[in-house]
Amino acid sequence: MDPRTSILIGSITCGLMALVLTVLARATPLPVPGMRRWVLGSWLVFLALLLLGLRDWITNLGSVTLGNGALILAYIVWLSGTLEYGQRRIRWVPWLLLSALVTGTVTWFVYVDESYRARVVIVAGLCAVINARHAFVVMRMLGQHQRSKALGTSLTTTWLAVLTVVYASRALHAIALPQGNSGLLTQDAIQILYTGGFTVCNLMLVIAFATLASDHVRARIEEQVVRDPLTGALNRRALFEALELELQRSRRYGRKFCIAMLDIDHFKKVNDQFGHLVGDRVLASTCRRATSLIRPNDVFARYGGEEFLILMPETTLESAMQAAERIRGEIGSNADDNLPCITVSMGVTEWCADDVSAESMVARADSALYVAKANGRNRIEIAGS
Ligand code: GH3
Ligand code: MG
Ligand code: MG
Repeated sequence: MDPRTSILIGSITCGLMALVLTVLARATPLPVPGMRRWVLGSWLVFLALLLLGLRDWITNLGSVTLGNGALILAYIVWLSGTLEYGQRRIRWVPWLLLSALVTGTVTWFVYVDESYRARVVIVAGLCAVINARHAFVVMRMLGQHQRSKALGTSLTTTWLAVLTVVYASRALHAIALPQGNSGLLTQDAIQILYTGGFTVCNLMLVIAFATLASDHVRARIEEQVVRDPLTGALNRRALFEALELELQRSRRYGRKFCIAMLDIDHFKKVNDQFGHLVGDRVLASTCRRATSLIRPNDVFARYGGEEFLILMPETTLESAMQAAERIRGEIGSNADDNLPCITVSMGVTEWCADDVSAESMVARADSALYVAKANGRNRIEIAGS
């Protein structure tokens, strides 16, 4: 396929995919950070490929200056979208200055000192740098977030890496070897490979961003299914799944674990005295503070209104009591800024071989909690098995 056809077909398909991405961005049930920039970048790629594909049919100002300018800007906007997705910000000034400089130089090499070779070196060189930076940003995100297993991240990294290689190879080729009468639309092997390569990569990247966005929405929805919206703790459904799993493990390997039921003392008074909104903030703060005092693989869940349950895998009764005491002491001794002071009572119990269901263990922890309440509150009781 000749370079003009492949660039123009690339432009049309990128335009169609940009349209799909635009519709997706409007229809998404949850906002996806960075998505609007991916959409804008995709439209810029469509425009850039269109202008480049119309080489010799429109003025050089349109095809060379605006075409290359739009392409470079598209990659910067895509990069800014990905940074926003990863809750980071782009430094616009250096990137925009660099792209203005390159676009200006490209124009110089059209009107003042005509040289396709020089244009290829600087445009392909800069595009390689932007996309290499972009690939690096995605790879760092891959290392940091649980999203790493998602398809979108690996698709994006792969195609950014391929695009970087395409641009870098083209720039190096132009630096190392004389380019003869070569131009963008020349039908030699290197031009066909180059134009075909970057066209396919651009298209795949629009698809990769759509995949990233859908991964994000899926992950958020999955999160909402297992989390309590007020406190961010796991909900009852997730708690019982975790408990059943732990019970199976214990039955199989005989490993002990403990659970603790935590209830805020006289919480009704907090609501009555300060209002429900303050009550809600006390619940969220209690959850945050308790979570910071347990181990990362302990499970902290909201069992009911102002009752929470902590599942402590691989923990003896003695260690569980120490953890419970740490939480009770810490929460009872001071309050979060501007929130009323509260105390908590807890009931702790250890798994025993007779435990056939999660419910029986929870009921035992609940009775121990009841004893703690009856014995004056702000204390911990252990359930007999
Ligand atoms: P005790 O020391 O015996 O546990 O007394 P208590 O007042 O804490 O217990 P009680 O069961 O009488 O009251 C629990 C209160 O928790 C009543 C209910 O309105 C409140 N509550 C439950 N869920 C929420 C919530 O999501 N937000 C707020 N603000 N209050 C809640
Ligand atoms: Mg209570
Ligand atoms: Mg209660």
